[in-house]
Amino acid sequence: MDKPKISPNDFNTPSRPTWCPGCGNYMIWTAIKQALAELELPPHRVVISYGVGCAGNMNNTIGTYAFHSLHGRSLPPALGAKLANHKLTVLAVSGDGDTYGEGTNHLIHMARFNPNITHIVSNNHSYSLTTGQASPTSKQGYITKTTPWGEVKKPINPISLVLAAGASFVARGFAGDINHLKELIKAGIQHPGFAHIDVLQQCVTFNHVQTLEYYREKVYDLNQTGHNTEDKNAAFKKAAETEKIPIGIFYKEIRPTYESTFPQLENEALVEKRIGTVKLRDLL
Ligand code: SF4
Repeated sequence: MDKPKISPNDFNTPSRPTWCPGCGNYMIWTAIKQALAELELPPHRVVISYGVGCAGNMNNTIGTYAFHSLHGRSLPPALGAKLANHKLTVLAVSGDGDTYGEGTNHLIHMARFNPNITHIVSNNHSYSLTTGQASPTSKQGYITKTTPWGEVKKPINPISLVLAAGASFVARGFAGDINHLKELIKAGIQHPGFAHIDVLQQCVTFNHVQTLEYYREKVYDLNQTGHNTEDKNAAFKKAAETEKIPIGIFYKEIRPTYESTFPQLENEALVEKRIGTVKLRDLL
């Protein structure tokens, strides 16, 4: 067998992750590097924009171009990178508080715009970096330092949210199944449009309810059940399931990407354009 041209180790950096031993982010980190390698994407052709949180701390441990943004803001810089050079592969990595709390507005509009960006969300149902407060995806009754009598608010359903917002690729992965997650990330990167992948991730330090074992008992691959990924109503029904938890691709559709609607970008990327002849005085 031919040796792969690019190995996951090519995406390592001198920095090692600082997550707690057993954290699901190690698995997501591995799946991302494996996906990039199997798609033979050279590190210098990939940009990853990170939010703030335990997941965002992945920023200096994957050797692509990287941007460590503010809390909830991984998507706007990702869109900026895509518009500046749409020939690059652009990913965003965020957490659940990051994405479904501070960044919800960006998420909804990114789903609507449909830029060719793959968004991976480490969803551990907690604000773990700030020591485990309840997040927008925490279950009702979840006990934390900020909810000592149990969370009273209903959680956001990330899959239903992005489906309703118009995302053209909607999937859920599980950190405990690296191979399955890697394939989902590859499919997301290959999808021409906004690919949202919510990843069930164990936080061994603060979330003692939704553990690796909890998920192992509950998840099943919906793409092994004859689910039609072009049927949005079926996707909504699957998103509402809670007893057993479907993972895989819920929905995908092909429609024009945001960047393809700019005639200026048809022949060359923005960064390739000559600016030597631009007369700023006239423009201003
Ligand atoms: Fe992972 Fe939780 Fe530790 Fe953060 S606090 S590194 S999410 S186990």
